[in-house]
Amino acid sequence: MALRKKKPESRQPPISVVTGGAGFLGSHLVDLLLLRGHQVIAIDNLVTGSVDNIAHLAGNGAFRFIQQDVTDFLFLKEAVDYVWHFASPASPIDYLELPIQTLKVGSLGTHKALGLAKDKGARFLLASTSEVYGDPLIHPQREDYWGNVNPIGPRGCYDEAKRFAEALTMAYHRQHGLMTRIVRIFNTYGPRMRLKDGRVVPAFIAQALEGRALTVFGDGSQTRSFCYCTDLVEGIYRLMMSGESEPVNIGNPAEMTVAEFAREVIRLTGSRSRIVFEPLPQDDPRQRRPDIGRAKKLLGWAPTVDLAIGLEKTIDYFGGRVSGKAKEKSASGKKTRAKSKKISFSD
Ligand code: UDP
Repeated sequence: MALRKKKPESRQPPISVVTGGAGFLGSHLVDLLLLRGHQVIAIDNLVTGSVDNIAHLAGNGAFRFIQQDVTDFLFLKEAVDYVWHFASPASPIDYLELPIQTLKVGSLGTHKALGLAKDKGARFLLASTSEVYGDPLIHPQREDYWGNVNPIGPRGCYDEAKRFAEALTMAYHRQHGLMTRIVRIFNTYGPRMRLKDGRVVPAFIAQALEGRALTVFGDGSQTRSFCYCTDLVEGIYRLMMSGESEPVNIGNPAEMTVAEFAREVIRLTGSRSRIVFEPLPQDDPRQRRPDIGRAKKLLGWAPTVDLAIGLEKTIDYFGGRVSGKAKEKSASGKKTRAKSKKISFSD
């Protein structure tokens, strides 16, 4: 058991546990950690994650997958240096469908992941969210803003689960001296999002590629800013390796309206789709943009991938997942950029 007492910085290779490691962001983080020489154990119950996201790692001796719900007791024989807690439903339709699991993974799952880190003497990072700011009254959002959250609304299960998770993480830091990090993740996109997870990026891309109308909710004047997945996990990696235990926003500060975003997706796919307006969901934040001053100062981090470049990669990825017929229907003389891949989609 001598290994257990070694400091994370001194063991080679370092050992990382990623909860939610088969999810969209978790799997991109796993890829980055393997590239940086970590041994990685991914834990996921596959409720919203998919083995498709980690299939390319089959046979990689530095990677192991455990299918388990992180709200159950986590037992690992090996030493662990870093625990990256990413498990949670994260799209509005997922957490509307799974409100109790969302609350459980944010509370009980975070408790188990913190307990694992404490037992192993590992560093712990919580994947929190811009949703902790709710429908913000301060713009752009800085980490010292406490938020405007409706605890009993349809998004409350996610927002409050993550707020509880932040409180529990700080309690472990203060009471047990655990080395903890909290990242507040703003809207992120890229390959491996689920085509039907309901978030605006896969929704608009699928609609555009299939020649269906893009469903803009409300009048489309609400704003978001979109960060490409590889930029995001780089920022998160730097945060874990830093000495910062207070929350840090990671996201792209380039803000646009949802209507502008719809037009950009239509332009990049070369689609003939039109835009239709549908009712704005309850408590949908009107404005969202991260202030990334702390990430810049503390981590030397800022996003590097332009929206058009990131969207092209994402459109390529989704191109293999919409039906060929639908693509033909949508093509407007020029072909979509989507490459055809024969991968079945497991939603
Ligand atoms: N949205 C939209 N059409 C869709 C899906 C989402 O207009 O088909 C809007 C949604 O109302 C929100 C924004 O796009 O204002 C971003 O939604 P998403 O679900 O991606 O994430 P959120 O930032 O709300 O968590």
